[in-house]
Amino acid sequence: MRIDLHAHSHVSDGTEPPADLVASAKAAGLDVVALTDHDQTAGWQEAGAAALELGIGLVPGMEISCKTELGISVHLLSYLHDPSHPGLVEEIDKARDARITRARRMVELLAEDYPVDWDMIARHSAPGATIGRPHIADALVTAGVVRTRTEAFAQVLTARSRYYVGHYAMDPVTAVKLVREAGGVPVFAHPVASARGRVVGEETFEQMIEAGLLGLEINHRDNPEEGREYLRAIAAEHDLIVTGSSDYHGTGKPNRLGENTTTVEMLQRILEAGTGTAPVGMPELS
Ligand code: AMP
Ligand code: FE
Ligand code: FE
Ligand code: ZN
Repeated sequence: MRIDLHAHSHVSDGTEPPADLVASAKAAGLDVVALTDHDQTAGWQEAGAAALELGIGLVPGMEISCKTELGISVHLLSYLHDPSHPGLVEEIDKARDARITRARRMVELLAEDYPVDWDMIARHSAPGATIGRPHIADALVTAGVVRTRTEAFAQVLTARSRYYVGHYAMDPVTAVKLVREAGGVPVFAHPVASARGRVVGEETFEQMIEAGLLGLEINHRDNPEEGREYLRAIAAEHDLIVTGSSDYHGTGKPNRLGENTTTVEMLQRILEAGTGTAPVGMPELS
């Protein structure tokens, strides 16, 4: 069984429509894939239909943008939650709206030095997509400033850059509680991805676990090996679900589908804990 529980479509900052992402997962030899777009679930239906048609399991999911009191960014994966839970919907809508204002401001700042404008962002994103720095990166590529998204992040768009603007996001403890209320399974995404910026300390892990966190995404290319050992110790101590995933973004990132995978046992724990929505087209898992 090959199971990859973290992938993005163009409903957020991936480059493929949800149905194409599912087809790519099938072509990559996966048996189960999760669609985890940033801050929204608009791709679930299309992905579900494609999964049934192609004969691959789909776990509907989402990656929620969060921010701690200290301003540290946390990404929380949620699997199988009720997509219409009012409290959760209100918060992710707020974050998505804030992302647009923030991206407009970043483009204004960038336009002082580079030939980019808001129309380019609009052209580089699917209608209604969750707008992120990757879309701004695409505009910089089109403008010939950099060659790839990766270069754009390395040279222009880091969190330390003078063009960087933050945006509203709920705190991770609230997010964990809301996901549980919505019948979802909260899993801390790439928790020690220090190359992306500051990461949270032990206290935040404790608070999130106390609030109902159920898993840690340990096998992810952005978690350095030392960090993984630390995460394995936390997972063992609290009997948490452990996942491994690609964080595929289509052609937007080097991450390949199936480059990290999750065991059947761990997927079964997710399926048992998730009560807000049903998985689609699951293969026999034993
Ligand atoms: P944002 O949430 O808008 O601040 O942007 C963060 C997003 O950018 C994450 O979802 C990543 O997928 C993406 N990202 C971060 N670093 C890179 C990189 N080096 N190359 C391409 N995409 C990246
Ligand atoms: Fe992303
Ligand atoms: Fe993430
Ligand atoms: Zn992701």
